[in-house]
Amino acid sequence: MYDFDYHKPSSVADAVKLLSADPDARAISGGQTLLPALKHRLNRPTYLVDLSGIAELKGVKREGDKVTVGALTRHIEVQNSPEVKSAIPALAHMAAVIGDIQVRNRGTIGGSVANNDPAADYPSAVLGLGATVVTDKRRIAADDFFQGMFTTALEPGELLTAIEFPIPEKAGYAKMRNPASRYVMVGVFVAKTKGGVRVVVNGAGPGVFRQTEMEQALSANWSPDAVAGIKQASEGLNSDIHGSAEYRAHLVTVMAKRAVADAG
Ligand SMILES: Cc1cc2nc3c(=O)[nH]c(=O)nc-3n(C[C@H](O)[C@H](O)[C@H](O)COP(=O)(O)OP(=O)(O)OC[C@H]3O[C@@H](n4cnc5c(N)ncnc54)[C@H](O)[C@@H]3O)c2cc1C
Repeated sequence: MYDFDYHKPSSVADAVKLLSADPDARAISGGQTLLPALKHRLNRPTYLVDLSGIAELKGVKREGDKVTVGALTRHIEVQNSPEVKSAIPALAHMAAVIGDIQVRNRGTIGGSVANNDPAADYPSAVLGLGATVVTDKRRIAADDFFQGMFTTALEPGELLTAIEFPIPEKAGYAKMRNPASRYVMVGVFVAKTKGGVRVVVNGAGPGVFRQTEMEQALSANWSPDAVAGIKQASEGLNSDIHGSAEYRAHLVTVMAKRAVADAG
């Protein structure tokens, strides 16, 4: 690990001031991705801005037809939140299948969504529910937020502060996980929302993407059988030591059927 300085602000305003003062400063939330990168000297920040003391970034609120989750809310808190469990059980289920208990006790939704790892879980719920990503500067629709592998619409120094999830009529999530890391091999999130049916695939490609053929099929007939015959093309999907692109393509259909069954 290279040497770095360390700051622990107690407000979003102070954190943003620190992050915009130096392009090589980095925010740290749960540290589940950033700390291993620092240990392997893959990253050399001048200083870290630890967000963990900022109370306004924590917690879950249900207001009207949406649930707002603060960026610093840990996976275990989403998993156990009564508001999430009653309004969007698929999101609580997703949080419960992230990594292991140690990771869920430290990792945060803001860190996960800002990082946009192709094998992460949350991006598919954010896109699948048509959520809004809130930052210190603006509100970004999920459809405009995820821009490819580890790339988002966030600008340098911009802080993700919360995610607003509209409450769906139905939603479900199924994931085939890597048995060692528990990261996603292929996941599918399905939702019946006010704006229509959304089907989002994570883990299979370089970034999350909507499976429009399955969306059309489920709009006509919401049942696992409706997606059973739809094959995902393997072109452009990830291929690595854990699984070929063809295997991942096959899993998209299998996970989609399970996600619809999970949604009920
Ligand atoms: C063994 C292991 C298994 C895992 N398995 C899974 C899994 O199955 N599914 C899954 O989805 N994830 C998994 N993860 C990832 C983990 O769940 C965390 O969500 C992820 O590491 C990022 O969250 P964090 O809070 O730790 O972010 P950090 O590591 O603190 O930060 C990650 C990146 O996001 C930036 N950042 C952090 N917070 C903000 C913010 N509020 N605004 C802007 N930028 C910000 C940081 O600067 C950094 O670049 C796993 C991790 C480990 C170590």
